[in-house]
Amino acid sequence: MIHVAGFVEDSIVDGPGLRTVVFTQGCDKRCRGCHNPAAQPLTGGAPYSPEELFDRITANPLCAGVTFSGGEPLLQAAALLPLARLVKNAGLPLAVYTGDVLEQALERGDEAQLALLALTDVLVDGPFVMEEKTLSLPFRGSKNQRVLDSARSVSERRAVLCEDAAWL
Ligand code: SF4
Repeated sequence: MIHVAGFVEDSIVDGPGLRTVVFTQGCDKRCRGCHNPAAQPLTGGAPYSPEELFDRITANPLCAGVTFSGGEPLLQAAALLPLARLVKNAGLPLAVYTGDVLEQALERGDEAQLALLALTDVLVDGPFVMEEKTLSLPFRGSKNQRVLDSARSVSERRAVLCEDAAWL
């Protein structure tokens, strides 16, 4: 089961287009100025199966993409993986926000996390840093966060910047 802190069907701030956002429960980063402190506790959240969430996503004909945010989605990578497969098989673009940097995930080598990132189109990485806060960069809260081509970054084992103009 995926433990969900929140579900938004009409976001325009978590990637281009009208996106459905799954906010996962649990994050260990404790960033000062966190955008979603209610999602930090590592227990709690509402449990959903991947199929239940996929049905909610596809019930909205206007959905142009899906974003996993949090909380820290990588903490629930194994549970999110079947949902990611359903989303991609439905032809929807997938984005993930993580408070880690890509290099940490590569070094950790967690199989489920890397499989999730390999299925993901765009990864926004890095914690929210108050001193780097910006309102001028699209889809990012602080300047340290990068917008990466997730699948290429995993396959090439290095940070590959996203070239999709809709994200930049
Ligand atoms: S990584 Fe995101 S959810 Fe986690 S504490 Fe930082 S801002 Fe909050």
